[in-house]
Amino acid sequence: MSNPLLEKFNTPFDTIPFDKIKPKHFEPAFEELFSSARIEIESIWKSNNAPTFENTLVALERSASRLGRIASVLYNLNVAETGKEIQEVTRNISPKLAEFRNDIILNQSLFERIKTVYEESKKGDYSIEDWKLLDKTYKDFVRNGANLDETSKKRYREITQELSQLTVDFGENVLAETNNYFLHITDEKDLSGLPEDVIDQAHMEAESRELNGWVFTLQFPSYGPFMKYADNRQLRKQVFFAYAKRSVQENAYNNTGIIEKIVNLRLELANILGFKTYSDFVLSNRMAERTEKVWSFLDDLLKASMPVAQKEVEEMQHFAAENGLNDTLQIWDWSYYSEKLKKAKFDIDDEMTRPYFQLEKVEKGVFDLAKQLFGLYFRQNNDVPIYHNDVKVFEVYDEKNTFISLLYMDYFPRESKKGGAWMTEYEQQHITRNGENVRPHVSLVFNFTKPTKTKPSLLTYTEVTTLLHEFGHALHGMLSNCTYESLAGTNVYRDFVELPSQLLENWADQKKWLNQIASHFETGEK
Ligand SMILES: [Zn+2]
Repeated sequence: MSNPLLEKFNTPFDTIPFDKIKPKHFEPAFEELFSSARIEIESIWKSNNAPTFENTLVALERSASRLGRIASVLYNLNVAETGKEIQEVTRNISPKLAEFRNDIILNQSLFERIKTVYEESKKGDYSIEDWKLLDKTYKDFVRNGANLDETSKKRYREITQELSQLTVDFGENVLAETNNYFLHITDEKDLSGLPEDVIDQAHMEAESRELNGWVFTLQFPSYGPFMKYADNRQLRKQVFFAYAKRSVQENAYNNTGIIEKIVNLRLELANILGFKTYSDFVLSNRMAERTEKVWSFLDDLLKASMPVAQKEVEEMQHFAAENGLNDTLQIWDWSYYSEKLKKAKFDIDDEMTRPYFQLEKVEKGVFDLAKQLFGLYFRQNNDVPIYHNDVKVFEVYDEKNTFISLLYMDYFPRESKKGGAWMTEYEQQHITRNGENVRPHVSLVFNFTKPTKTKPSLLTYTEVTTLLHEFGHALHGMLSNCTYESLAGTNVYRDFVELPSQLLENWADQKKWLNQIASHFETGEK
Protein backbone atom coordinates (compact mmCIF):
# COMPACT_ATOMS: atom_id res chain seq x y z
CA MET A 1 0.00 0.00 0.00
CA SER A 2 1.40 3.41 -0.87
CA ASN A 3 1.54 5.68 2.15
CA PRO A 4 1.75 9.47 1.74
CA LEU A 5 3.30 9.77 5.21
CA LEU A 6 6.32 7.74 4.07
CA GLU A 7 6.74 9.03 0.55
CA LYS A 8 8.22 12.26 -0.69
CA PHE A 9 5.48 14.83 -0.10
CA ASN A 10 5.66 16.48 -3.57
CA THR A 11 3.74 19.48 -2.28
CA PRO A 12 4.43 23.21 -2.45
CA PHE A 13 7.08 24.09 0.19
CA ASP A 14 7.23 20.40 1.14
CA THR A 15 4.07 20.92 3.17
CA ILE A 16 2.13 18.10 4.79
CA PRO A 17 -0.11 16.44 2.14
CA PHE A 18 -3.25 16.74 4.27
CA ASP A 19 -5.44 16.04 1.23
CA LYS A 20 -3.89 12.58 0.84
CA ILE A 21 -3.53 11.55 4.47
CA LYS A 22 -6.11 9.14 5.90
CA PRO A 23 -6.20 7.95 9.52
CA LYS A 24 -5.32 4.42 8.35
CA HIS A 25 -1.94 5.67 7.08
CA PHE A 26 -0.62 6.57 10.52
CA GLU A 27 -0.04 3.23 12.24
CA PRO A 28 1.86 1.54 9.39
CA ALA A 29 3.87 4.75 8.90
CA PHE A 30 4.79 4.86 12.57
CA GLU A 31 5.84 1.20 12.55
CA GLU A 32 8.23 1.89 9.73
CA LEU A 33 9.48 5.22 11.12
CA PHE A 34 10.10 3.70 14.55
CA SER A 35 12.24 0.96 13.12
CA SER A 36 14.22 3.20 10.79
CA ALA A 37 14.80 5.70 13.61
CA ARG A 38 15.99 2.88 15.90
CA ILE A 39 18.52 1.83 13.29
CA GLU A 40 19.72 5.43 12.95
CA ILE A 41 20.15 5.79 16.69
CA GLU A 42 21.75 2.37 17.05
CA SER A 43 24.48 3.47 14.68
CA ILE A 44 25.29 6.27 17.13
CA TRP A 45 25.56 4.25 20.35
CA LYS A 46 27.08 1.16 18.75
CA SER A 47 29.78 3.18 17.02
CA ASN A 48 33.39 2.07 17.59
CA ASN A 49 34.65 5.61 17.18
CA ALA A 50 35.33 7.66 20.27
CA PRO A 51 32.36 9.88 21.06
CA THR A 52 32.48 13.44 19.75
CA PHE A 53 30.04 16.31 19.68
CA GLU A 54 29.50 15.66 15.97
CA ASN A 55 29.13 11.88 15.96
CA THR A 56 26.97 11.74 19.08
CA LEU A 57 25.15 14.99 19.90
CA VAL A 58 24.61 16.29 16.38
CA ALA A 59 23.88 12.81 15.06
CA LEU A 60 21.23 12.29 17.73
CA GLU A 61 19.73 15.73 17.13
CA ARG A 62 19.43 15.04 13.40
CA SER A 63 17.94 11.55 13.83
CA ALA A 64 14.28 10.56 13.56
CA SER A 65 13.29 13.82 11.89
CA ARG A 66 10.52 12.33 9.74
CA LEU A 67 9.16 10.54 12.79
CA GLY A 68 9.02 13.84 14.69
CA ARG A 69 7.22 15.54 11.85
CA ILE A 70 4.61 12.82 11.46
CA ALA A 71 4.05 12.73 15.22
CA SER A 72 3.36 16.48 15.16
CA VAL A 73 0.84 15.97 12.34
CA LEU A 74 -1.00 13.31 14.34
CA TYR A 75 -1.06 15.30 17.58
CA ASN A 76 -2.14 18.49 15.83
CA LEU A 77 -4.91 16.73 13.98
CA ASN A 78 -6.05 15.15 17.22
CA VAL A 79 -6.70 18.61 18.70
CA ALA A 80 -7.72 20.59 15.59
CA GLU A 81 -9.61 18.08 13.43
CA THR A 82 -10.17 14.86 15.30
CA GLY A 83 -12.62 12.00 15.00
CA LYS A 84 -13.07 8.43 16.18
CA GLU A 85 -10.30 7.09 13.96
CA ILE A 86 -7.70 9.76 14.72
CA GLN A 87 -8.46 9.36 18.42
CA GLU A 88 -7.91 5.63 18.21
CA VAL A 89 -4.62 6.05 16.36
CA THR A 90 -3.44 8.60 18.95
CA ARG A 91 -4.38 6.25 21.78
CA ASN A 92 -2.38 3.45 20.17
CA ILE A 93 0.63 5.53 19.19
CA SER A 94 1.10 7.56 22.39
CA PRO A 95 2.53 4.75 24.53
CA LYS A 96 4.73 3.67 21.64
CA LEU A 97 6.15 7.17 21.33
CA ALA A 98 6.76 7.21 25.08
CA GLU A 99 8.53 3.86 24.76
CA PHE A 100 10.63 5.12 21.85
CA ARG A 101 11.66 8.17 23.84
CA ASN A 102 12.46 6.02 26.87
CA ASP A 103 14.61 3.71 24.78
CA ILE A 104 16.75 6.71 23.90
CA ILE A 105 16.89 8.42 27.30
CA LEU A 106 17.50 5.19 29.23
CA ASN A 107 20.06 3.74 26.82
CA GLN A 108 23.17 3.37 28.99
CA SER A 109 25.68 3.23 26.12
CA LEU A 110 24.23 6.32 24.49
CA PHE A 111 24.23 8.21 27.77
CA GLU A 112 27.85 7.22 28.48
CA ARG A 113 28.87 8.72 25.14
CA ILE A 114 27.00 11.97 25.81
CA LYS A 115 28.45 12.11 29.32
CA THR A 116 31.99 11.62 28.01
CA VAL A 117 31.62 14.48 25.53
CA TYR A 118 30.04 16.66 28.20
CA GLU A 119 32.72 15.99 30.81
CA GLU A 120 35.55 16.54 28.35
CA SER A 121 34.10 19.84 27.15
CA LYS A 122 34.46 23.44 28.19
CA LYS A 123 31.83 26.05 27.37
CA GLY A 124 34.45 28.22 25.68
CA ASP A 125 35.27 25.50 23.13
CA TYR A 126 31.86 25.75 21.53
CA SER A 127 29.63 28.23 19.75
CA ILE A 128 26.75 29.36 21.97
CA GLU A 129 24.27 27.18 20.13
CA ASP A 130 26.47 24.06 20.10
CA TRP A 131 27.11 24.42 23.82
CA LYS A 132 23.40 24.85 24.44
CA LEU A 133 22.69 21.61 22.56
CA LEU A 134 25.32 19.71 24.55
CA ASP A 135 24.35 21.15 27.91
CA LYS A 136 20.63 20.73 27.32
CA THR A 137 20.90 17.17 25.99
CA TYR A 138 23.08 16.03 28.87
CA LYS A 139 20.84 17.61 31.49
CA ASP A 140 17.66 16.28 29.83
CA PHE A 141 19.07 12.76 30.01
CA VAL A 142 20.00 13.16 33.69
CA ARG A 143 16.72 14.85 34.57
CA ASN A 144 14.76 12.08 32.89
CA GLY A 145 16.33 9.07 34.49
CA ALA A 146 19.56 8.23 32.62
CA ASN A 147 21.35 7.72 35.97
CA LEU A 148 18.72 5.41 37.49
CA ASP A 149 19.38 1.79 38.44
CA GLU A 150 17.68 -0.97 36.45
CA THR A 151 14.72 -1.43 38.79
CA SER A 152 13.93 2.28 38.82
CA LYS A 153 14.35 2.48 35.06
CA LYS A 154 11.78 -0.26 34.67
CA ARG A 155 9.29 1.56 36.87
CA TYR A 156 10.07 4.85 35.09
CA ARG A 157 9.10 3.22 31.79
CA GLU A 158 5.83 1.93 33.19
CA ILE A 159 4.90 5.30 34.65
CA THR A 160 5.71 7.38 31.56
CA GLN A 161 3.79 4.98 29.31
CA GLU A 162 0.76 5.02 31.55
CA LEU A 163 0.90 8.82 31.77
CA SER A 164 1.07 9.14 27.99
CA GLN A 165 -2.16 7.19 27.69
CA LEU A 166 -3.95 8.91 30.57
CA THR A 167 -3.32 12.40 29.18
CA VAL A 168 -4.78 11.37 25.81
CA ASP A 169 -7.85 9.93 27.56
CA PHE A 170 -8.23 13.12 29.57
CA GLY A 171 -8.38 15.34 26.47
CA GLU A 172 -10.77 13.01 24.67
CA ASN A 173 -13.16 13.05 27.61
CA VAL A 174 -13.22 16.85 27.83
CA LEU A 175 -13.92 17.14 24.10
CA ALA A 176 -16.66 14.52 24.26
CA GLU A 177 -18.33 16.28 27.18
CA THR A 178 -18.06 19.67 25.50
CA ASN A 179 -19.88 18.23 22.51
CA ASN A 180 -22.36 16.19 24.55
CA TYR A 181 -24.20 19.17 25.95
CA PHE A 182 -26.29 21.79 24.22
CA LEU A 183 -29.05 24.08 25.36
CA HIS A 184 -32.06 23.98 23.08
CA ILE A 185 -34.29 27.05 23.39
CA THR A 186 -37.70 27.07 21.75
CA ASP A 187 -39.37 29.84 23.76
CA GLU A 188 -38.33 33.25 22.46
CA LYS A 189 -38.69 34.68 26.00
CA ASP A 190 -35.57 32.77 27.02
CA LEU A 191 -33.52 34.75 24.53
CA SER A 192 -34.13 37.96 26.45
CA GLY A 193 -31.00 40.09 26.80
CA LEU A 194 -29.07 38.31 24.05
CA PRO A 195 -27.74 40.44 21.19
CA GLU A 196 -29.04 39.85 17.71
CA ASP A 197 -25.75 38.43 16.37
CA VAL A 198 -25.62 35.87 19.15
CA ILE A 199 -29.22 34.87 18.46
CA ASP A 200 -28.44 34.52 14.74
CA GLN A 201 -25.52 32.26 15.56
CA ALA A 202 -27.69 30.14 17.84
CA HIS A 203 -30.33 29.85 15.16
CA MET A 204 -27.71 28.73 12.65
CA GLU A 205 -26.48 26.16 15.14
CA ALA A 206 -30.03 24.84 15.57
CA GLU A 207 -30.49 24.63 11.81
CA SER A 208 -27.28 22.66 11.43
CA ARG A 209 -28.75 20.13 13.90
CA GLU A 210 -32.10 20.16 12.11
CA LEU A 211 -33.83 21.65 15.13
CA ASN A 212 -36.28 24.51 15.53
CA GLY A 213 -35.43 27.52 17.64
CA TRP A 214 -31.98 28.19 18.98
CA VAL A 215 -29.07 26.09 20.18
CA PHE A 216 -26.30 27.19 22.53
CA THR A 217 -23.20 25.07 22.96
CA LEU A 218 -20.24 24.97 25.32
CA GLN A 219 -17.90 26.23 22.61
CA PHE A 220 -16.66 29.61 23.66
CA PRO A 221 -18.25 31.88 21.01
CA SER A 222 -21.59 30.47 22.16
CA TYR A 223 -20.98 29.94 25.89
CA GLY A 224 -19.26 33.30 26.53
CA PRO A 225 -21.99 35.61 25.17
CA PHE A 226 -24.72 33.47 26.75
CA MET A 227 -23.19 33.93 30.22
CA LYS A 228 -22.71 37.62 29.53
CA TYR A 229 -26.13 38.56 28.21
CA ALA A 230 -28.87 36.00 28.95
CA ASP A 231 -31.36 37.59 31.37
CA ASN A 232 -32.69 34.17 32.39
CA ARG A 233 -30.66 33.49 35.53
CA GLN A 234 -31.81 29.89 35.83
CA LEU A 235 -30.56 29.11 32.33
CA ARG A 236 -27.26 30.86 33.00
CA LYS A 237 -26.85 28.65 36.04
CA GLN A 238 -27.72 25.54 34.03
CA VAL A 239 -25.23 26.38 31.27
CA PHE A 240 -22.55 27.30 33.78
CA PHE A 241 -22.89 23.93 35.51
CA ALA A 242 -22.90 22.09 32.21
CA TYR A 243 -19.57 23.77 31.46
CA ALA A 244 -18.09 23.27 34.93
CA LYS A 245 -19.26 19.66 35.24
CA ARG A 246 -17.60 18.49 32.05
CA SER A 247 -15.82 15.21 32.79
CA VAL A 248 -16.72 15.13 36.49
CA GLN A 249 -20.15 13.57 36.02
CA GLU A 250 -21.06 9.94 36.58
CA ASN A 251 -20.63 8.75 33.02
CA ALA A 252 -18.08 7.21 30.68
CA TYR A 253 -16.27 10.55 30.26
CA ASN A 254 -15.46 11.12 33.91
CA ASN A 255 -11.90 12.37 34.45
CA THR A 256 -11.79 12.24 38.26
CA GLY A 257 -10.14 8.84 38.41
CA ILE A 258 -7.77 9.83 35.60
CA ILE A 259 -6.70 12.99 37.45
CA GLU A 260 -6.08 11.02 40.62
CA LYS A 261 -3.96 8.51 38.73
CA ILE A 262 -2.01 11.24 36.90
CA VAL A 263 -1.26 13.10 40.13
CA ASN A 264 -0.05 9.96 41.92
CA LEU A 265 2.03 8.75 38.98
CA ARG A 266 3.63 12.17 38.59
CA LEU A 267 4.55 12.24 42.26
CA GLU A 268 6.04 8.76 42.06
CA LEU A 269 7.95 9.74 38.91
CA ALA A 270 9.36 12.85 40.61
CA ASN A 271 10.39 10.80 43.65
CA ILE A 272 12.15 8.21 41.48
CA LEU A 273 14.06 11.01 39.78
CA GLY A 274 15.15 12.40 43.14
CA PHE A 275 12.70 15.30 43.48
CA LYS A 276 10.42 15.87 46.41
CA THR A 277 7.41 16.92 44.34
CA TYR A 278 6.39 16.94 40.69
CA SER A 279 6.59 20.73 40.63
CA ASP A 280 10.22 20.54 41.82
CA PHE A 281 10.89 18.20 38.89
CA VAL A 282 9.13 20.44 36.33
CA LEU A 283 10.68 23.64 37.63
CA SER A 284 14.19 22.21 37.50
CA ASN A 285 13.90 22.97 33.79
CA ARG A 286 12.29 26.41 34.03
CA MET A 287 13.43 29.97 34.54
CA ALA A 288 11.54 30.05 37.84
CA GLU A 289 13.78 27.17 39.01
CA ARG A 290 12.21 26.34 42.38
CA THR A 291 8.75 25.65 43.81
CA GLU A 292 9.23 28.15 46.66
CA LYS A 293 9.98 30.87 44.14
CA VAL A 294 6.69 30.20 42.32
CA TRP A 295 4.81 30.25 45.62
CA SER A 296 6.36 33.56 46.51
CA PHE A 297 5.39 35.01 43.10
CA LEU A 298 1.84 33.81 43.67
CA ASP A 299 1.74 35.14 47.23
CA ASP A 300 2.89 38.58 46.07
CA LEU A 301 0.26 38.54 43.37
CA LEU A 302 -2.42 37.52 45.83
CA LYS A 303 -1.44 40.22 48.32
CA ALA A 304 -1.51 42.90 45.66
CA SER A 305 -4.74 41.85 43.97
CA MET A 306 -6.92 40.64 46.86
CA PRO A 307 -7.96 44.09 48.20
CA VAL A 308 -8.87 45.24 44.68
CA ALA A 309 -10.77 42.03 44.00
CA GLN A 310 -12.71 42.34 47.26
CA LYS A 311 -13.68 45.89 46.42
CA GLU A 312 -14.83 44.77 42.98
CA VAL A 313 -16.99 42.00 44.43
CA GLU A 314 -18.63 44.48 46.80
CA GLU A 315 -19.26 46.94 44.01
CA MET A 316 -20.70 44.22 41.80
CA GLN A 317 -22.93 42.84 44.57
CA HIS A 318 -24.23 46.33 45.20
CA PHE A 319 -24.78 46.99 41.51
CA ALA A 320 -26.58 43.65 41.05
CA ALA A 321 -28.89 44.41 44.00
CA GLU A 322 -29.72 47.80 42.50
CA ASN A 323 -30.55 46.01 39.28
CA GLY A 324 -32.99 43.58 40.76
CA LEU A 325 -30.90 40.69 42.09
CA ASN A 326 -32.47 39.50 45.35
CA ASP A 327 -29.75 37.03 46.17
CA THR A 328 -26.04 36.67 46.76
CA LEU A 329 -24.06 37.16 43.57
CA GLN A 330 -23.05 33.78 42.13
CA ILE A 331 -20.41 32.76 39.60
CA TRP A 332 -23.03 32.51 36.85
CA ASP A 333 -23.96 36.17 37.56
CA TRP A 334 -20.47 37.57 37.40
CA SER A 335 -19.98 37.92 33.68
CA TYR A 336 -23.60 39.09 33.27
CA TYR A 337 -23.44 41.92 35.80
CA SER A 338 -19.89 42.94 35.02
CA GLU A 339 -20.93 43.54 31.41
CA LYS A 340 -23.89 45.60 32.67
CA LEU A 341 -21.67 47.54 35.07
CA LYS A 342 -19.18 48.27 32.30
CA LYS A 343 -22.05 49.55 30.19
CA ALA A 344 -23.37 51.74 33.05
CA LYS A 345 -19.96 53.17 33.88
CA PHE A 346 -18.39 53.62 30.46
CA ASP A 347 -21.30 53.23 28.08
CA ILE A 348 -19.48 50.45 26.26
CA ASP A 349 -20.01 46.71 25.86
CA ASP A 350 -18.65 43.87 23.75
CA GLU A 351 -21.51 43.95 21.29
CA MET A 352 -20.98 47.65 20.60
CA THR A 353 -17.37 47.12 19.61
CA ARG A 354 -17.91 43.82 17.75
CA PRO A 355 -19.08 45.37 14.43
CA TYR A 356 -15.81 47.29 14.33
CA PHE A 357 -13.63 44.20 14.58
CA GLN A 358 -14.18 42.35 11.34
CA LEU A 359 -11.89 39.33 11.29
CA GLU A 360 -10.40 40.04 7.84
CA LYS A 361 -9.52 43.59 8.90
CA VAL A 362 -8.03 42.53 12.20
CA GLU A 363 -5.99 39.89 10.37
CA LYS A 364 -4.75 42.51 7.95
CA GLY A 365 -3.94 44.82 10.87
CA VAL A 366 -1.88 42.11 12.52
CA PHE A 367 -0.02 41.41 9.26
CA ASP A 368 0.62 45.14 8.79
CA LEU A 369 2.01 45.25 12.29
CA ALA A 370 4.43 42.43 11.42
CA LYS A 371 5.45 44.41 8.36
CA GLN A 372 6.06 47.52 10.40
CA LEU A 373 7.95 45.75 13.19
CA PHE A 374 9.83 43.02 11.31
CA GLY A 375 9.48 43.84 7.60
CA LEU A 376 7.30 40.79 6.92
CA TYR A 377 4.92 40.41 3.97
CA PHE A 378 2.04 37.94 3.74
CA ARG A 379 0.63 36.38 0.56
CA GLN A 380 -2.22 33.94 0.62
CA ASN A 381 -1.55 30.59 -1.03
CA ASN A 382 -4.52 28.48 -2.10
CA ASP A 383 -2.51 25.49 -3.31
CA VAL A 384 -1.06 24.27 -0.06
CA PRO A 385 -3.05 21.21 1.13
CA ILE A 386 -5.17 21.86 4.20
CA TYR A 387 -6.92 19.59 6.72
CA HIS A 388 -10.19 21.55 6.78
CA ASN A 389 -11.81 24.06 4.41
CA ASP A 390 -11.73 26.79 7.06
CA VAL A 391 -7.92 26.80 7.08
CA LYS A 392 -6.11 29.60 5.21
CA VAL A 393 -2.42 29.48 4.33
CA PHE A 394 -0.04 32.41 3.86
CA GLU A 395 3.48 32.61 2.51
CA VAL A 396 5.59 35.00 4.54
CA TYR A 397 8.50 36.96 3.05
CA ASP A 398 10.93 39.56 4.33
CA GLU A 399 11.80 42.90 2.69
CA LYS A 400 14.32 41.25 0.38
CA ASN A 401 11.64 38.81 -0.74
CA THR A 402 13.35 35.93 1.03
CA PHE A 403 10.92 33.21 2.05
CA ILE A 404 10.56 33.26 5.85
CA SER A 405 7.74 30.90 6.75
CA LEU A 406 4.37 29.43 5.99
CA LEU A 407 1.50 30.40 8.23
CA TYR A 408 -1.71 28.35 8.58
CA MET A 409 -4.70 30.14 10.13
CA ASP A 410 -7.64 28.08 11.43
CA TYR A 411 -10.18 30.44 13.00
CA PHE A 412 -13.51 28.82 13.82
CA PRO A 413 -14.81 26.27 16.33
CA ARG A 414 -16.14 22.85 15.34
CA GLU A 415 -16.89 19.63 17.16
CA SER A 416 -13.63 18.10 15.98
CA LYS A 417 -11.59 20.88 17.60
CA LYS A 418 -10.47 21.34 21.18
CA GLY A 419 -11.40 24.64 22.88
CA GLY A 420 -9.03 27.60 23.25
CA ALA A 421 -6.34 28.97 20.95
CA TRP A 422 -2.82 27.81 20.28
CA MET A 423 0.24 27.94 18.04
CA THR A 424 1.87 24.84 16.63
CA GLU A 425 4.30 23.85 13.86
CA TYR A 426 4.23 21.32 11.02
CA GLU A 427 7.85 21.97 10.18
CA GLN A 428 10.44 23.33 12.59
CA GLN A 429 13.04 25.74 11.38
CA HIS A 430 16.58 24.34 11.24
CA ILE A 431 19.73 24.46 9.14
CA THR A 432 20.70 21.20 7.46
CA ARG A 433 24.20 19.77 7.30
CA ASN A 434 24.42 21.18 3.79
CA GLY A 435 23.69 24.65 5.10
CA GLU A 436 20.15 24.87 3.80
CA ASN A 437 17.93 26.95 6.07
CA VAL A 438 14.66 25.00 6.25
CA ARG A 439 11.94 27.50 7.04
CA PRO A 440 9.11 26.72 9.48
CA HIS A 441 5.44 25.94 8.83
CA VAL A 442 3.61 27.64 11.67
CA SER A 443 -0.06 27.15 12.44
CA LEU A 444 -2.47 29.17 14.59
CA VAL A 445 -5.70 27.59 15.76
CA PHE A 446 -8.57 29.56 17.31
CA ASN A 447 -12.20 29.24 18.35
CA PHE A 448 -13.53 32.60 17.15
CA THR A 449 -17.04 33.80 16.37
CA LYS A 450 -18.15 32.39 13.02
CA PRO A 451 -19.62 34.42 10.17
CA THR A 452 -23.40 34.10 9.66
CA LYS A 453 -25.38 34.12 6.42
CA THR A 454 -25.62 37.89 6.55
CA LYS A 455 -22.56 38.97 8.51
CA PRO A 456 -18.82 38.38 8.33
CA SER A 457 -16.95 37.09 11.38
CA LEU A 458 -17.05 39.92 13.92
CA LEU A 459 -14.72 39.59 16.88
CA THR A 460 -15.05 40.61 20.49
CA TYR A 461 -12.28 42.73 21.94
CA THR A 462 -11.03 39.65 23.83
CA GLU A 463 -10.82 37.73 20.56
CA VAL A 464 -8.77 40.57 19.04
CA THR A 465 -6.38 40.33 21.99
CA THR A 466 -6.21 36.53 21.57
CA LEU A 467 -5.33 36.93 17.90
CA LEU A 468 -2.47 39.30 18.82
CA HIS A 469 -1.33 36.93 21.55
CA GLU A 470 -1.16 33.87 19.31
CA PHE A 471 0.41 35.94 16.56
CA GLY A 472 3.21 36.73 19.01
CA HIS A 473 3.88 32.99 19.29
CA ALA A 474 3.71 32.71 15.50
CA LEU A 475 6.35 35.44 15.10
CA HIS A 476 8.55 33.61 17.59
CA GLY A 477 8.31 30.50 15.43
CA MET A 478 8.46 32.19 12.01
CA LEU A 479 11.51 34.35 12.73
CA SER A 480 13.55 31.51 14.20
CA ASN A 481 17.09 31.20 12.90
CA CYS A 482 18.78 28.25 14.60
CA THR A 483 20.90 25.34 13.47
CA TYR A 484 19.16 22.73 15.60
CA GLU A 485 15.48 21.95 15.50
CA SER A 486 15.28 21.14 19.19
CA LEU A 487 16.47 24.66 20.04
CA ALA A 488 14.54 26.50 17.32
CA GLY A 489 11.45 28.70 17.54
CA THR A 490 9.39 28.26 20.66
CA ASN A 491 11.63 25.49 22.05
CA VAL A 492 12.69 27.74 24.89
CA TYR A 493 12.07 27.54 28.64
CA ARG A 494 8.33 27.08 29.01
CA ASP A 495 8.11 30.08 31.30
CA PHE A 496 9.80 32.27 28.71
CA VAL A 497 7.60 31.20 25.84
CA GLU A 498 4.81 33.64 26.69
CA LEU A 499 7.00 36.72 26.38
CA PRO A 500 6.54 37.44 22.64
CA SER A 501 2.80 36.82 22.93
CA GLN A 502 2.48 39.14 25.93
CA LEU A 503 4.40 41.81 24.05
CA LEU A 504 2.09 41.63 21.06
CA GLU A 505 -1.01 41.89 23.27
CA ASN A 506 -0.01 45.46 24.10
CA TRP A 507 -1.13 46.63 20.67
CA ALA A 508 -4.72 45.84 21.66
CA ASP A 509 -4.73 49.00 23.77
CA GLN A 510 -2.79 51.23 21.41
CA LYS A 511 -5.11 53.86 19.98
CA LYS A 512 -3.07 54.19 16.80
CA TRP A 513 -3.24 50.48 15.97
CA LEU A 514 -6.91 50.20 16.89
CA ASN A 515 -7.58 53.13 14.60
CA GLN A 516 -5.95 51.24 11.74
CA ILE A 517 -7.93 48.05 12.17
CA ALA A 518 -11.29 49.15 13.55
CA SER A 519 -14.03 50.34 11.25
CA HIS A 520 -17.69 49.42 11.13
CA PHE A 521 -18.19 46.46 8.79
CA GLU A 522 -21.25 48.08 7.15
CA THR A 523 -20.73 51.84 7.38
CA GLY A 524 -16.93 52.02 7.55
CA GLU A 525 -17.31 54.39 10.50
CA LYS A 526 -14.20 54.62 12.69
ZN1 LIG B 1 0.39 31.91 24.85
